[in-house]
Amino acid sequence: MERTEHEGGLSAWPFRRAGVIVAHPDDETLWAGGLMLAHPRTEWVVISLCRGSDADRRPRFFRAMEIYGALGCMGDLDDGPDQAPLSPAAVRQAVLGLVGSDRFDLVITHDLAGEYTRHRRHEETAAAVASLYREGRLPADNLWRFAYEDGGGAHLPQAIEQADAVWTLPDALAQRKHRLITETYGFAEDSWEARTTPRTEAFWYGPGIGEGVEQTRE
Ligand SMILES: [Zn+2]
Repeated sequence: MERTEHEGGLSAWPFRRAGVIVAHPDDETLWAGGLMLAHPRTEWVVISLCRGSDADRRPRFFRAMEIYGALGCMGDLDDGPDQAPLSPAAVRQAVLGLVGSDRFDLVITHDLAGEYTRHRRHEETAAAVASLYREGRLPADNLWRFAYEDGGGAHLPQAIEQADAVWTLPDALAQRKHRLITETYGFAEDSWEARTTPRTEAFWYGPGIGEGVEQTRE
């Protein structure tokens, strides 16, 4: 795949149908909300693997989907505070059950390293999606991963400037993204989520380094 440059007005955006596969409702907004808002004509599908039966988060997620003009799907994987590990097979099954069979031009998901230190569900989601993509079982032509780091917990997550695609939201989009987190998802202005909400978004291309031999499909 050709390198897509997002600097200078997002002029090259070839994706007509794009999926965002995340662990939780709000992850799509935190890590890719600006990208989604900037491409309203793209057919977005957001899949959250957890919180499908959460009486608070579920309606907030679908309200966010209305704002994005996106289709939302939710699973209900365990998301308890102890972050008990899930079996890789269970996470993979959840992904396959929610993605359906229609092909995506692009799927965006978590990075294997997560975005901050640390949430196990992010890493498990990344591993499941990347492995399914490598095996050709994810109906997607391209895979991108969120590219953020928090210095091992030293600071709030921020975009990795060396990532493959990096772009800074213009004011209007940054404000809309912030309002999705505070008004739609209901996080207080001084919450970790609201303070984190990255103004600069960054992505890696490809499934990343995981188990087995690295393969590139580009
Ligand atoms: Zn999350």
